[in-house]
Amino acid sequence: MTQEEVYKVFEETQALLNGHFELRSGLHSNQFFQCALVLQYPRIAGQLCEALVEKMKSELKELEVDTVIAPAMGGITIGHDVARALGVRFIFVEKEDNVLKLRRFKIKKGERFVIAEDVVTRGGRVQETIDIVQENGGVVAAIGILVNRSGGKASFDAPLVSLLEIEPVTYDPADCPLCREGVKLVHPGSK
Ligand code: ZN
Repeated sequence: MTQEEVYKVFEETQALLNGHFELRSGLHSNQFFQCALVLQYPRIAGQLCEALVEKMKSELKELEVDTVIAPAMGGITIGHDVARALGVRFIFVEKEDNVLKLRRFKIKKGERFVIAEDVVTRGGRVQETIDIVQENGGVVAAIGILVNRSGGKASFDAPLVSLLEIEPVTYDPADCPLCREGVKLVHPGSK
């Protein structure tokens, strides 16, 4: 899948909306992105994850991996499909007292991991997952994400492969070109 094809899938499933939006931060933007809306179609989500795995295999010469790990909730369906495409085990970390923890699974010493996530903006959850793998004696071989929103700012100690890179363009409401053009402002999430 090319970037354009992937972009189109996000648009068609309305995970990616173009227009004039007020974000939760109060800033205005020309785009609104909600990854869950693409994941409501398992067949499409599966195709995206297969494309991500293909991209990882072609960008990283040697991808030796025993297990895929993902942070709950957003990463779970991605991790599951990425693990299926790689033919390996899948586990997840989950929030407890607002901190990600490995609660249900064991990590073996030297076990090699791909970390999977749906969207990365600053990369905090991915970094937390990396720390958990390493604290438990595992090795992070690579990180695979569907959508990189960090504008290249998220970087980790292991190679990062993203299927799509879309950096949000945000405006101060006092200085928003879309407001000046009179484009109708939408409050996503509120009905
Ligand atoms: Zn505006």
